[in-house]
Amino acid sequence: TDDQSRMNICWKNLVSGSSLAVCRPGFFKASPQSPSCSKCPPHSYTHEEASTSCLCEEHYFRRESDPPTMACTRPPSAPRNAISNVNETSVFLEWIPPADTGGRKDVSYYIACKKCGSPSGLCEACGSHVRYLPQQIGLKNTSVMMVDLLAHTNYTFEIEAVNGVSDQSPAARQYVAVNVTTNQAAPSPISIVKKGKIAKNSISLSWQEPDRPNGIILEYEIKYFEKDQETSYTIIKSKKTKITVNGLKPASTYIFQIRARTAAGYGGFSRRFEFETSPVSVAASSDQSQIPIIAVSVTVGVILLAVVIGFLLSGRRCGYSKAKQDPEEEKMHFHNGHIKLPGLRTYIDPHTYEDPNQAVHEFAKEIEASCITIERVIGAGEFGEVCSGRLKLPGKREFPVAIKTLKVGYTEKQRRDFLGEASIMGQFDHPNIIHLEGVVTKSKPVMIVTEYMENGSLDTFLKKNDGQFTVIQLVGMLRGIASGMKYLSDMGYVHRDLAARNILINSNLVCKVSDFGLSRVLEDDPEAAYTTRGGKIPIRWTAPEAIAFRKFTSASDVWSYGIVMWEVVSYGERPYWEMTNQDVIKAVEEGYRLPNPMDCPAALYQLMLDCWQKDRNSRPKFDEIVSMLDKLIRNPSSLKTLVNASSRVSNLLVEHSPLGSGAYRSVGEWLEAIKMGRYTEIFMENGYSSMDAVAQVTLEDLRRLGVTLVGHQKKIMSSLQEMKVQLVNGMVPL
Ligand code: AMP
Repeated sequence: TDDQSRMNICWKNLVSGSSLAVCRPGFFKASPQSPSCSKCPPHSYTHEEASTSCLCEEHYFRRESDPPTMACTRPPSAPRNAISNVNETSVFLEWIPPADTGGRKDVSYYIACKKCGSPSGLCEACGSHVRYLPQQIGLKNTSVMMVDLLAHTNYTFEIEAVNGVSDQSPAARQYVAVNVTTNQAAPSPISIVKKGKIAKNSISLSWQEPDRPNGIILEYEIKYFEKDQETSYTIIKSKKTKITVNGLKPASTYIFQIRARTAAGYGGFSRRFEFETSPVSVAASSDQSQIPIIAVSVTVGVILLAVVIGFLLSGRRCGYSKAKQDPEEEKMHFHNGHIKLPGLRTYIDPHTYEDPNQAVHEFAKEIEASCITIERVIGAGEFGEVCSGRLKLPGKREFPVAIKTLKVGYTEKQRRDFLGEASIMGQFDHPNIIHLEGVVTKSKPVMIVTEYMENGSLDTFLKKNDGQFTVIQLVGMLRGIASGMKYLSDMGYVHRDLAARNILINSNLVCKVSDFGLSRVLEDDPEAAYTTRGGKIPIRWTAPEAIAFRKFTSASDVWSYGIVMWEVVSYGERPYWEMTNQDVIKAVEEGYRLPNPMDCPAALYQLMLDCWQKDRNSRPKFDEIVSMLDKLIRNPSSLKTLVNASSRVSNLLVEHSPLGSGAYRSVGEWLEAIKMGRYTEIFMENGYSSMDAVAQVTLEDLRRLGVTLVGHQKKIMSSLQEMKVQLVNGMVPL
């Protein structure tokens, strides 16, 4: 009984926290020195008396480093809402944290990569060539980028949330899976180049296919130059993996670099390989033999000098000359201060051909009409219907295509103009330029067959999917367009009609530049208007110098690209709303620019403003735009800073005037007109009872008023903006 009463006292004391005796079940005391027993923390228990710790409930765990007073925890649930963005052979994943962190703060993420779709139908691990940025394991942020994936491959990425006790749990892993298919990509660099036979004027080379060809290799490009004389180099093309380079100087060191080309374009050059020709007095040497260098005789020196001088004087300083070697090889010489990138062809204007039919057949493949099945009409072009269908070429699998037809009763000029687009498109080969399959000219109707873009034109697609994409997805689209435009500008092609309506988008959200033509481009664009100088120009998309004095350049294409950025971020909004073309020209000339679209990352709006610099030389180049967007994609947190909403509104109001003078008599009438009548009462009750008061509304105000639907916020804000623009004819002054 003594014991009993002592225990009773103990329990009583325990409640008051001053027990010095053993603890009862459900309580513990970590060390005998502790003054009191503590209740077992959540998800733990003890059925024993005098416990020094509590045990975790089933499915709950404790890390060794967790203090005994800490609750038992469990692994987190799966991450949620994972989205992917594919860019050639890179995949960006973003997700939101798990709903249940398991009671711990140390949640991180692990990415498992599986390559699927092998003939066996099984998935296999991706292998070590895939790189994860910033890392694969222990990710703290909710995004990751995988690079160096294989092209045209199905991958499954499993994003698993883990915490400090995940490794103790026998339960199944909690992950969210994302399936993606990579796009085409350029081949990887060639890593091994070997020298073969070496003579005084020639070196034979052989090399291995790149590790990742990413497609069928169409040809190799061999660049070489005499050591330390890089400004004058020669390029040879070859379809084989070996070549003999002739016409070299004896006893001289040459640098060689090789790259491969597939339908996706050129891969990177290999590293530099250095080989030396044999001295003049030796007929030939092989790989193994080491021949002492003998000085080149004076006579040879003089001859060589004459050859070099003759070459330099031949007037081909900035261009290249083509000299056919082998039918398999093409050789080009580049000289000091070359302008074009090595190996990149220049666009040839089909107008330079006397016979336009010859241009078509030079650049486009003739397809037999019987290979094409037309399925349905998907659009209307200037020259006839645009249809979707299928193409079955002999020995190839059938695949979907778009077919543009030339309507019956065309004139010869119409036929020429129609096929002109194919002559231009056929010269391009880039993942962000619409790909030409071929033409049908030998039978009627005349057709242009291109790859099929499931989601049609970008402006319509964005309007249909208003607010549905993450910023990263939008930036991915813009990156693709910029990359296509970089290719065109490198080729020397100026588009002149770059606009979201002329971008096509496929089911993987890959954007491709389309609508190529010469004068025709602007003829068939309903947006194009006649200027005072007689040309037809899509005013809202065109740089001021192109409108004023027809100065169309890649820099004016950059201006249009800025407008496309604005269209994309605002989901297909019409640039400058319903302002007239004349007002647009005037406002832009006076230095006003479009305001930032709603929820626009500051970095993107800054890029738009850069594209709209009055001085065309100050605008960024397309390669700079591509790198800038790549940087943003790699570091998505840089997109979190939005343009300050309030500064935006005050910027917009160049001078403050009451809103809607004459346009709408009351707030109710205005809201009704934009089909937002349901908010009239809320507006009135909160003091926005006049159009003047409404002028002050910001996005935050709308949210506060309970306008939570993004679509509605957008409708109201753009209507306000539109009214203000009409009223003060003012966009953002630069
Ligand atoms: P265009 O004459 O090139 O402006 O084409 C008219 C319309 O046809 C476009 O706005 C698209 O909706 C559709 N279209 C044209 N080409 C394609 C294509 N390759 N894939 C899917 N739709 C296309």
